Amino acid sequence: MTDLQQATAAGFKSRFAHAPDGLWSAPGRVNLIGEHTDYNDGFVFPFAIDRRTVVALRLRSDRLIRVASSFAEDAVELSLDHLVPENLHGWSAYPLGVAWALGEFGADLTHVPGFEVFIDSDVPIGAGLSSSAAIESAVAVALNEVWGLDLDRPTLARVGQLAENRAVGAPTGIMDQSASLLGEADAAVFLDCRTLDAEIIPLGFDAAGLDLLIIDTNVSHDHATGGYADRRASCEAGAAALGVGSLRDLSEADLPRAATLLDDETFRRVRHIVTENQRVLDTVRTLRDLGPTAIGALLDTSHVSMRDDFEISVPQLDLAVVTSREAGAIGARMTGGGFGGAAIALTPRELIPAVRSAVSEAFASAGYVAPDMFVVRASDGARRDTAA
Ligand code: ADP
Ligand code: MG
Repeated sequence: MTDLQQATAAGFKSRFAHAPDGLWSAPGRVNLIGEHTDYNDGFVFPFAIDRRTVVALRLRSDRLIRVASSFAEDAVELSLDHLVPENLHGWSAYPLGVAWALGEFGADLTHVPGFEVFIDSDVPIGAGLSSSAAIESAVAVALNEVWGLDLDRPTLARVGQLAENRAVGAPTGIMDQSASLLGEADAAVFLDCRTLDAEIIPLGFDAAGLDLLIIDTNVSHDHATGGYADRRASCEAGAAALGVGSLRDLSEADLPRAATLLDDETFRRVRHIVTENQRVLDTVRTLRDLGPTAIGALLDTSHVSMRDDFEISVPQLDLAVVTSREAGAIGARMTGGGFGGAAIALTPRELIPAVRSAVSEAFASAGYVAPDMFVVRASDGARRDTAA
């Protein structure tokens, strides 16, 4: 057992005074390319990372649910008879929301037994690596098994999304849960957000001697801020003005027409989405045809598009990208919703120390808060960690 698995089992025993039935886990994720394309019915290309959330779970003989986490002092208790989104608050809305959402996808919540869970994690929380999808997906695979539901992984992704949308109240897409549930080692999940078709694409980072460095700027971002809603509104306005249901329906050939019909700002928002969708397709094709050392330019262009056209970068992200490129990364971009959060730098393994120190020095001389940096590897999705 890993240290984290041991800690989770021990945490369960100390909170509930008996052993769990089993351990399940699910990873956080990072998006390699395809930003703000999800709500435009487009393409994204995330992978599951080697940071996981582990849940220890035991079924009860009554209808009570008790959830506890290393993250919080107190356990939260609720009867299955009162499990509705309005009754869910704070961090426990994530695991309890998943239990509720399973009912919306076919579980008979009037008959299933209650349970106890303890949750521990090494996914950084709120760093844009989706600790939220990790907790949802870990709870979803655990309950799917112990409640004998037999739901498939794409359905469990929708369960996690519904929990996050309705129980937590965050208007997020399906990308994070799909990566956490479908991810595989040294591979990424090519997801079509319109059809929800997902394809596993080998990355080949290991064989090429490449590592992906996360540079968390520690500039906090918040999806509720005006910037995010504002970008969504621009995309909707652009699609309406161009007579399409969503920006997914446009290609680069439509851009000259868009330039004549749209105001400059809306045009640049639209151009980011249209070119970003194409970059995801190009990244998948380039990986297949030429391998991972050839995708650097696509990452770079994606960053420029987010900086200049979509205008969601911040100076700390731009500095992380420029500095890591100068120090030897083969491609770099901000990742996630923007206005803060993290950048990624695809880097030859032997140059990781040079990139780290160059970025540290650049942030110090700019007077910015020191960034957190760590390498992530593409890893397996949600699973049962202990034998049944
Ligand atoms: P991100 O997904 O980028 O990490 P979110 O704001 O979407 O950030 O989700 C973070 C929230 O998820 C936390 O504030 C907490 O409520 C919940 N959460 C994540 N991991 C855990 C955990 N191990 N234990 C309890 N709650 C967690
Ligand atoms: Mg999240």
